[in-house]
Amino acid sequence: MQLLNCPFCGPRDQSEFTYLREAAPVPALDADTAAWHHFVYLRENQRGPHAEWWHHNHGCRQVLHIVRDTMTHEIISIESARPLEARP
Ligand SMILES: [Zn+2]
Repeated sequence: MQLLNCPFCGPRDQSEFTYLREAAPVPALDADTAAWHHFVYLRENQRGPHAEWWHHNHGCRQVLHIVRDTMTHEIISIESARPLEARP
């Protein structure tokens, strides 16, 4: 069992969260097909710190930006995908 420290809910079991995808930059809407193919289908599968999007689907239902070490599963940082100052 691993605890993820949600910035809104506090420490919660990992089973409450769903991995969405790596936090790679999104291509421009008018980018070519190759750029979109790479974004949608290809993964870097890097070792070490990896930026990811997670969803706290059994808690606050917020999307979180998590940096996780893929070698040790250590959670390096957890932040809201949308800063508080950007909320309506
Ligand atoms: Zn939460």
